[in-house]
Amino acid sequence: MIPFYKLERYEGNQNLFDLVMMSIASTSVGEPLHFHAEGLRGTGKTTIMRAARDILPNITRIKNCVFNCNPLDPHCPHHKNLSEAEIKEIGTEEIPMPFLEISHSAKVGTISGSIDLVKLTDNDTPEARLLPGLIPQAHRGILFVDEINRLADTSPEITDILLDVMGNKPGHIQIEESGLPVVDIPVSVSVWAASNPDEEPGALEEIRRQLSDRFDMVCYMERPKSVDVLAHMLKENSYANKIRKNRDIKQEDYQKNDEFRNNIVEWSRRYEETELPDFLRNYIARLYLKHNLESIRAIEAMQQGAILYSIIKGHDKALISDVTQMIPLVLKHRVDGDTLLKVVNDIESRGTKEGRLDFMKARKNKKEPEQDENYFQSGRSMRDIPRNDLINTEKTLTTGEN
Ligand SMILES: [Zn+2]
Repeated sequence: MIPFYKLERYEGNQNLFDLVMMSIASTSVGEPLHFHAEGLRGTGKTTIMRAARDILPNITRIKNCVFNCNPLDPHCPHHKNLSEAEIKEIGTEEIPMPFLEISHSAKVGTISGSIDLVKLTDNDTPEARLLPGLIPQAHRGILFVDEINRLADTSPEITDILLDVMGNKPGHIQIEESGLPVVDIPVSVSVWAASNPDEEPGALEEIRRQLSDRFDMVCYMERPKSVDVLAHMLKENSYANKIRKNRDIKQEDYQKNDEFRNNIVEWSRRYEETELPDFLRNYIARLYLKHNLESIRAIEAMQQGAILYSIIKGHDKALISDVTQMIPLVLKHRVDGDTLLKVVNDIESRGTKEGRLDFMKARKNKKEPEQDENYFQSGRSMRDIPRNDLINTEKTLTTGEN
C-alpha cells in the first residue's frame, strides 16, 4: 500500500485530502466531521481514505476499555459511574485513533453490540455483559463506509443506526439484546463514506435524503486530467517499483507519517481555541436566510469547515475565502443546482462588496498586504460554466480572470 504522503495529489482530489486532515483534527478533539466522497471508479477515493490510517494520532483511553472511554469523561456502562480515584486505579493507555470499516454483510449485532457469551457462560461468575459492536468501538475515531448508496438501499436497519450516530455531535447508539435492558451510549465518531453516484442504485441524496444531509460535506472526485500526473502514477504503481518499495520499508515513510501526525495534533490544539470572526458568522447567517437553506446543519458545517480549513492552510485567522471554499462542499448534496448557482453568484457579487468592507476594517487594525487578495472575491462569470464544473471545483470560486 502506498503511504499516505506519497499518494498522487492533483486538482481533482485536493478537496478529499483536505477533508481527511480536517476531519482527523476535529475528531481528535471530540467533534466529528462527517464527509462523503463521490466519484467514478479509479479516482482513488477509498485508497486515500484507507491510507489515512497511517497518519492517525493517538488517543488516551481507560486501560483496556473496549468502548474507548476518555479518562476525563468516561461514558461506557462499566466506567461512567466511577470516581476519579477509581479510574486512576485502573490506569490509562494510548492507542491509535480507531479506524473501522462497516462491511455490507454485517449484522446489526456486529455493528451496534451484542451479549458477551463468554461472560454469560463463565462457570464461576456468569454475568450478562455487553460486547460493543463496531460503532461503539470506533468511538473517538473514524468509521468508514464504502458504497454508502448501496448500503442505504439494501440495509435500512444499519442506515437507521447511522442516522442516530450522525444525528448530533456526539451521536448515540442503542444496544438491544433480548433479556437485557436497552443500553443507550453516546458515540463520537466521524463517518467517512464513498460512493459512485453513476452506478446502481444512484446518488445517496436520492435514496435516503436524510442520511445524505447528515454528511457535513460532500466532495466530488475528478479523474486526473494531466499526462504528468498519470505518468507519475503509473511509475509509482509499476511492479518493479512496488517490489523495491516493499524491500526498503523505510524509515523515511514512518518519518513522513509522523510529520502529518504532528501537524494534526497541532491543528487540533488550534481548533479547540479558534472562533470564526463575527463578520464571517454573519455572512453565513445571511446566506442561510437569503437562500432559504433549510438545514441548520449546513451552516454549522460551513462554520466548522471554514475554521478547520483556515487552520490546515496555516491562515492566522479565518478568511472569507475559507468560507467560500466550503460552500460547494456543504451545499452540493443539500440544495438543487439552481439554488447552488444562486448562492455562488451571490458570493461573486455581494462577496466582493462585503469582502472589501471587511478588508477596510482589517486594514485599520493590521497591515497585511499579502492577504489582500483573499478579501476580494473575484471570479469568472459562473453563468457560463456547466453546472458540474461549478459544483466540483473550488478554483472557480477563488481564481479566474478578473
Ligand atoms: Zn469504559
